Order: sequence, then C-alpha cells, then structure tokens
Amino acid sequence: MEIKFERFHLQSDLRSPLKGFETISVPTEVRIDPLTKRRSRIITWGLPSQGKFDFSKMAEDSKGCFFCPENVLQKTPQFLEEIVPVGRICIGRAVGFPNLNPVGSHGSVVVLCPEHFLHLNQFTSQIYEEGLSVAIEIIRRTMAFDPDTRYWQISQNFLLPGGSTILHPHLQVIGDPIPTNEMEWLLDASSAYSQRNGTHYWNDLIQIEKGLAKRYITQIGNIHWFVSYAPIGFNEVCGSVEGHGSITTVDKEEIASLAKGIVSTLKYYYEKNLNSFNFSIYSISGEAHYQLFLRVISRTPLQPYYLNDWTSFEVLQSELTANIIPEELCREIRPYFP
Ligand SMILES: [Zn+2]
Repeated sequence: MEIKFERFHLQSDLRSPLKGFETISVPTEVRIDPLTKRRSRIITWGLPSQGKFDFSKMAEDSKGCFFCPENVLQKTPQFLEEIVPVGRICIGRAVGFPNLNPVGSHGSVVVLCPEHFLHLNQFTSQIYEEGLSVAIEIIRRTMAFDPDTRYWQISQNFLLPGGSTILHPHLQVIGDPIPTNEMEWLLDASSAYSQRNGTHYWNDLIQIEKGLAKRYITQIGNIHWFVSYAPIGFNEVCGSVEGHGSITTVDKEEIASLAKGIVSTLKYYYEKNLNSFNFSIYSISGEAHYQLFLRVISRTPLQPYYLNDWTSFEVLQSELTANIIPEELCREIRPYFP
C-alpha cells in the first residue's frame, strides 16, 4: 500500500489588536489528497455563526413553483417515449422528468417531495430513498436507450448558496459519454494506484481509515462513511459504496444506507446553523478499479450580508479550502450517524 497522508504546516505571526498587540501565531494546514494529490487548505479560524435564517417569507413568496404538486405533472417536461413511455417516473412522493435547461447529453430533475421548502433537519431517509430510486431508474432506462452514457452524477444543489434558484428540494441527474474533470481525476488516479500496487485504492483507504479511527465515521450496510483527509469543501463527508462502480447495480438496502448517511449529515449541518449544501454521487460503469463514491459539503449559509465561500483561492488558484480540521469534524458528526 502506498497511501500517504502528507501535509504542510504553515504559520502566520502577527501582533493582534484583539490581544493588546501581543504577538500571536495563526496556523494553516495544507494537505495533499492521497489519491488525486490535489492540495486543500485547512483554515483554523471561522467567522461566528449568525444563528438560524428565517426562511418563512422566502418560502411563502416562492410557493406554487413548477415543482409544487399542483404544477409538477402539468408544467414539467416529459422523457422521450423510447425512454419512459408514460413521460415521467414516480416512486413514492418523488417525481423524475427531463431538465428543461440541461447541461449535457442527458439531464433530469427529481423533485424529492411535495413540500416546497424543508429545513435540513426535516429531510428524512424515506425522502432520499424515493428520490434516489427515481434517479437510478432514470439512469437504468437512459443507459438501455443510450449505452455509451457511462458517466453519471446524482447531485443536489440546495438553496441559493448551493447554486439552486428553486427552493423546492430536488436532485439533478446528469449523464454523458465523457467524464467530468473530477470523475477523470478519480478514475485515472485509482487506476494508476491499482497498476502500481496490485490492490484496490478504495479498499486500502477504508482499511487504513478504519484502523486510524480518526476520520472514519461508521459503516451503514456496505457503505463506509468517513471525513476526507484533504477535503475539497466545507464539512465534507464521504460515502464509499463497497462492491459497486455504478449506481445502477445497487439494491434497495444500499439505497437506504445512502439515504441514512445523507440525512445524518444534514442533521449535523442543521445543528451547526448551516442551511445550504451540495452533494454528488460519482457513478461510472465498466471500470474495475473504481468504486462508487458520494461527497456532501456544506456551503456558507444563506444569511443577511451573505458571504460567497469561493474566493480567489478556489476560483483562480484551484486550491480548495475547508474551515474545520477533518478529525474534529469526524468527532463532532459521529453521534449523528446510526
Ligand atoms: Zn415548490
């Protein structure tokens, strides 16, 4: 095994006006991801929370959107007849249909629930079980129609800081014949790792993380939940699905385990006064060295005088930042998981 947890300790010395101009040292850590070798900058200070944002006016003003129950079957697009003859896919309370504004070959939306707005502690496992089931059915049917589409993401952008203009909880399901940058980095690096070591990166990583017990949260079914050594976003939690590369082969129990992990993470975010997040499931078919993977990150919460969390570091230096030490996040979030 050649998994290395490399880091640089940086330190900034200054005379602080908050401490009578005494000299203080502020540490920063730069960590290198053991797989992709990408650098992340972990900042050890944070701005104080402004408490919970009152969403009541925003939710009331935007009610009756295209995803609300009175409109969703009237005003949203339908799939091609060759893919879904009845036009849309409904499982439980979740409804899936093509995205009117797609960004690739196959773009769909899954409306998760009839409720127009939910706080992060109101998302239930059932909501995600139904939503993910619709997303998977969309992928299975689309791949039967267009087998070249091997690269899929199931993602959620929640609220404006997460990049969503629509409050109503929904997933994005996007499939292409070419990978995204992130998929290609994960694929190339895990394939090179297997060639060098003769083992599977994800199995090796889980074994090490379990042994270290500093970032490993728990196992739910055959899904391993852990905090990344070198996160690419705030409060990043990952799930690695043993035995699968593509989401199309997971069973009901595995979908339920994924749902539980997502909901547990959101409950922690809620307690920390966060309200916006993104997640992505990276699903790739036909790659022996790849393992199905999910990442959830929080975004700077919607609040008065909202502060965008992508600065010149992220957009122009391609260096991602996190504002909590991963090991500390793991200790804090463990009790929220079953
Ligand atoms: Zn709505």
